Amino acid sequence: MPEKTQQFASDNYSGICPEALEYTVKANQRHETAYGTDPWTAKVSDRLRELFEIDAEVYFVFNGTAANSLALSALCQSYHSIIGHELAHIETDECGAPEFFSNGSKILLGGGDNGKLTPAAIEQLVKKRSDIHYPKPKVITLTQATEVGTVYSRDELLEIRNVADKYALKIHMDGARFANAVASLKVKPKEITWQCGVDVLCFGGTKNGLAVGEVILFFRKKQAEDFDYRCKQAGQLASKMRFLSAPWLGLLENDIWLKNAGNANERAASLERQLNGLPGLKLMFPRQANSVFVQMPPHVLDHLHQQGWHFYTFIGAGGARFMCSWDTTEESVQALVGDIKAAL
Ligand SMILES: *Cc1c(COP(=O)(O)O)cnc(C)c1O
Repeated sequence: MPEKTQQFASDNYSGICPEALEYTVKANQRHETAYGTDPWTAKVSDRLRELFEIDAEVYFVFNGTAANSLALSALCQSYHSIIGHELAHIETDECGAPEFFSNGSKILLGGGDNGKLTPAAIEQLVKKRSDIHYPKPKVITLTQATEVGTVYSRDELLEIRNVADKYALKIHMDGARFANAVASLKVKPKEITWQCGVDVLCFGGTKNGLAVGEVILFFRKKQAEDFDYRCKQAGQLASKMRFLSAPWLGLLENDIWLKNAGNANERAASLERQLNGLPGLKLMFPRQANSVFVQMPPHVLDHLHQQGWHFYTFIGAGGARFMCSWDTTEESVQALVGDIKAAL
C-alpha cells in the first residue's frame, strides 16, 4: 500500500499554504508590540474591511469553537436562545462551548433539508412559546458553507433575513468554510453577509490554508462593545497576535483565499463526478462546496480503511464524508476513486 500524503478526512488535515507561511516569516523579522497593537494586525484588519466593503470590528482568535462561542455570547444574554440547524457545528461539535461562554443561552434546534435551516423552521421555533418560562429567541445561527457541503443562496439568506427582521432576531454566521461558499456562489462577500442582515461572521482561516486562526467580523460596531475583554477572559487574546493576523495577508493578497477554496471545491466536484452513478454508491447531498457525502456498503468502507484512508462517518446522516482541501490534487482524488472502484 503506497503511503498517503493526502487524506480526505477533513480540510484541517492539510498544512499551511505557502503564501500564509511567507507572512509568518515576514512577521518574524523584528520585535513588535503585543496583544494586537502591532502594525500587521492593523493592516490585515483594514484589508478585511476593504474586502467586506464595510467598517467592521475585527478580532482574531485561535479556533472556530472560540470564534462561534464568543460571537454568540456577545449577541445574547444568558436567558436568550439561539436558533440553529440540528446538524450545526455549535450543537454537535463544540462541547457545549456556546452555552458555556454565554452563561447558559439555550440552542433551539430546527430542521431543513441539506443542512439548511428554513424560514419556516425558524418561525415555528420562535412562535412555539412566548411566555416568560421559555428562553427568549434572540439569534439565528447559519453555517455557510453548511456541515453537509451545501451553501445558502443569496435568496435563501434574504428570506431568512425577513424572518429575523420580523421577530427582531440577530444573525450569526459560522463561516468556517465561508471561502468555499463565496467561491461556490461567485458573489462578493458583502452580498451574503451584512447585505443579508448578518450581524457577525466567523470567517475561517484554518481550513483555507492557515496554520491556525479565525477572524470574527462584527458588521455593527456597537455589538462588539467590550468584545476585547470577552476574548481576553476566554483565553483568546494572543500576546504575539501578529502570528495569527499576518498570515491572513498571504490569503487576502491576490485572492489566494478564493484560489484555495476554489481548488477544494473543484476537487470535490471531480470526486462527485467520478463517483456519481457507480453501482452500490449513493451520493447523499448536492455537492456545492468542498465535501462529498457517500453512502457505501460496509465492505467498501472496510477496504478503504485497510488501504490507509482516513475519513469520518459520524458527520451528517451517517455516510462517509470526503473533504477536499486547498491543496488536494487530482492525483489524490484518482487514487481514492481507484480504491473505491476496486472495492466495489
Ligand atoms: C471546523 C469547523 C469549525 C471550527 O472548529 P474548530 O475545531 O473549533 O476550529 C466551526 N464550524 C464548522 C462548521 C466547522 O466545520
